[in-house]
Amino acid sequence: MPSMLDAVVVGAGPNGLTAAVELARRGFSVALFEAHATVGGGARTEELTLPGFRHDPCSAAHPLAINSPAFRALPLERYGLEWLHPDLPMAHPFPDGTAAVLSRSVGETAASFGPRDAGAYRRLVEPFLPKWDTLARDFMSLPLTALPRDPVTLARFGLVGLPPSTWLTRRFRDERARTLFAGLVAHVMAPLGGFATGAVGLVFALAAHARGWPVARGGSQAISDALAAYLRDLGGAIHTDYEVKRLDDLPPARAYVFDTSPTALARIAGFGNHYANYRYGPGVFKIDYALDGPVPWTAPQARSAGTVQVGADSAEIAAALRAASKEGRAPDAPFLITVQPGVADPTRAPAGRHVFWAYGHVPNGWTGDLTDAIERQLERYAPGFRDRVLARATAGPPELAARNANYVGGDIATGAVSGLQLLLRPKLSLSPYTTPHPAVFICSSATPPGPGVHGMSGHNAAKAVWRGLRRT
Ligand SMILES: Cc1cc2nc3c(=O)[nH]c(=O)nc-3n(C[C@H](O)[C@H](O)[C@H](O)COP(=O)(O)OP(=O)(O)OC[C@H]3O[C@@H](n4cnc5c(N)ncnc54)[C@H](O)[C@@H]3O)c2cc1C
Repeated sequence: MPSMLDAVVVGAGPNGLTAAVELARRGFSVALFEAHATVGGGARTEELTLPGFRHDPCSAAHPLAINSPAFRALPLERYGLEWLHPDLPMAHPFPDGTAAVLSRSVGETAASFGPRDAGAYRRLVEPFLPKWDTLARDFMSLPLTALPRDPVTLARFGLVGLPPSTWLTRRFRDERARTLFAGLVAHVMAPLGGFATGAVGLVFALAAHARGWPVARGGSQAISDALAAYLRDLGGAIHTDYEVKRLDDLPPARAYVFDTSPTALARIAGFGNHYANYRYGPGVFKIDYALDGPVPWTAPQARSAGTVQVGADSAEIAAALRAASKEGRAPDAPFLITVQPGVADPTRAPAGRHVFWAYGHVPNGWTGDLTDAIERQLERYAPGFRDRVLARATAGPPELAARNANYVGGDIATGAVSGLQLLLRPKLSLSPYTTPHPAVFICSSATPPGPGVHGMSGHNAAKAVWRGLRRT
């Protein structure tokens, strides 16, 4: 290791790994320090239940990763990453046994909303699809880390997306499309009536049509392992089992990049109240299952989808989000996001068996047990589900926060995705990756473009770092 490194990165989640790779690619000397025994943060894979069952404790479905401008520019396939696509990216079953779907095909998706809304859906997504790659790059680089390449399309996207999702879904006459969109917004734990939540739903839909919602062969760990292997090839050093508590724990460097929560960074770097106004959102209660067969969904579409949303209608989903984020109680009928990687990837479990996960929203720091409410919801749409369970591993907010310090109070978005904090995080600033110390930067999902495995916060932060390093 040189006596003075160019950059030290703290935290080996997708954003920390991407920041380290981007800096090493540009010839900077880089070392990365991770508290956990293995790299990955929210993109990892572990045998949580029974031998041979490979679970993704956090991310499993990857619309944002496969569409990420940062990841698409890296040779991750050469380092073992392979995307596997389920027949359907996502399905949203209803109590009557039918389902709306998010398909690669706009036509199939529109048809699943029913004849009264098919045209409205086409008119919503079709103008953006031919320009998707440029649009994705432009809005994932906000605020202003790069000049927009297509400002006109970005502005049109802003007009549709900046109002609340409840405005966007007024263009639909029936509940099917409204419900599916409400579920999409809930993926980032945002309130349905919140600022810019229309954009959240629209991004997930466009991502499905552009490149799908794949899983990684062998598990999400493959994404992190590919980033780590590439980093090592570029000469970067990775130190695991190394929790950073103070800046003095780190070797001398020209820049320090933190893939941590703003609160942790303030503690480590002595920034006092600098991030005191940063708000954390609701937590989640998650169950990883080992099953002795596929989930017995009533709706056939749900059986072939990688991701399945579970919530009867938009009112039930809104009530579940409200209970967890505003009313300080666990919802009676939790809205569930579930992923069944085995429909695309047979390597996750012994032959004929499956891994499956489901989570529902709960208040930040909640210490109860949501298992029964989650399984009652699943039984509504997949009768006989409980009989398939071989083993389950449950994790509420305290366990999630213990697994990963970034999930403060079980908030897997590392900060409320509501109000202006959806776009302007961790502070109201046009340089969100810089901090009060000129050599210290932040790159976690507490910075734009926010939660999800896409590495774009790391990519954008790396730009801020190398611009700074070039000047010194
Ligand atoms: C249950 C669950 C389901 C999810 N599902 C999906 C999904 O399907 N698709 C999707 O795209 N996203 C999903 N996500 C979100 C996604 O995992 C995160 O948004 C993403 O991992 C954030 O990346 P990051 O690099 O900012 O932080 P993280 O991935 O959280 O990584 C931060 C890393 O920093 C380390 N660290 C923190 N503090 C220190 C310290 N002081 N010293 C050293 N190391 C430290 C942590 O150990 C961790 O490894 C899910 C998350 C959870 C928890």
